[in-house]
Amino acid sequence: MSIKSSGWEALPGKWVFYLTMASATTYIDDLRSKPDVVDLTKHEDMIEIFKHANVPSQDAIKPNVAVASSVRELLGCPVCLNVMYPPIHQCSNGHTLCSGCKPRVQNRCPTCRHELGNIRCLALEKIAASLELPCKNQSFGCTGKYPYYSKLKHEPHCAFRPYSCPYAGSECTRVGEIPYLVAHLKDDHKVDMHNGSTFNHRYVKSNPLEVENATWMLTVFSCFGQYFCLHFEAFQLGMALVYIAFLRFMGDDNEAKNYSYSLEVGGNGRKIIWQGVPRSIRDSHQKVRDSLDGLIIQRNMALFFSGGDGKELKLRVTGRIWKEQ
Ligand SMILES: [Zn+2]
Ligand SMILES: [Zn+2]
Ligand SMILES: [Zn+2]
Ligand SMILES: [Zn+2]
Repeated sequence: MSIKSSGWEALPGKWVFYLTMASATTYIDDLRSKPDVVDLTKHEDMIEIFKHANVPSQDAIKPNVAVASSVRELLGCPVCLNVMYPPIHQCSNGHTLCSGCKPRVQNRCPTCRHELGNIRCLALEKIAASLELPCKNQSFGCTGKYPYYSKLKHEPHCAFRPYSCPYAGSECTRVGEIPYLVAHLKDDHKVDMHNGSTFNHRYVKSNPLEVENATWMLTVFSCFGQYFCLHFEAFQLGMALVYIAFLRFMGDDNEAKNYSYSLEVGGNGRKIIWQGVPRSIRDSHQKVRDSLDGLIIQRNMALFFSGGDGKELKLRVTGRIWKEQ
């Protein structure tokens, strides 16, 4: 039996699924080692299954090929209709069910109403695990195709995975590529956009003593052909309230390391200077804040910098971004 691989393959106008016996060899070997068991290898070497039943064309069907059944159909959960992945459960009559739906059917097989118990369908699991499926970030440019478990491992690290919206202080769930997110920040969050690598920002709050956790409007800087987000907020650090300013890079960590930035805040002849490396927006804004990776200003110092009688927060933060050589 000659064995190549299995997976989805695009032919003009259609997707074809190839399942060769290789993906099931362990299972078949188990059967072979036992006497009086049907030799499954006597069946056709290759099963071609069409995702779309209405598009088979004769030239796509190779000789010696039996169109057995639709793997998709075989792997379809009868409840949610999604493709099942391991663990796949079955009742004592052999009806299968996905693990997501199992807790929802009150231990009754949705097909025959028999008690479900805890029987796994290992043969189907092996077939499901051997399917080569496109990475879920295909629409973002990833061309990878992986068997199920490799796909699970790949996707959280996929270089094409979209970024989350970096806007803090809301539960925004938008994801996308950087240009999309920049437009989204501008249009939907109405953030301040700023061209250039130096800046001078004032953060004002008329009643700073009432502030617990506060987030000021995000500023997005465009320089060096990249985008950076400047965050400024108040948060409780232990018993004390502090202000923090930090920069995040709209891109991946390995690129963020090519840049540095400095922030300065002061007043009354005092000054605090921070120099750092922008963090990738892959790291959540809260993670960066909680790691204190930025310019930290104690409230008393912030009020002192603000001048006046300490009733108003009026901080001037200046900064610069540069590219490391
Ligand atoms: Zn299901
Ligand atoms: Zn059943
Ligand atoms: Zn990928
Ligand atoms: Zn958003």
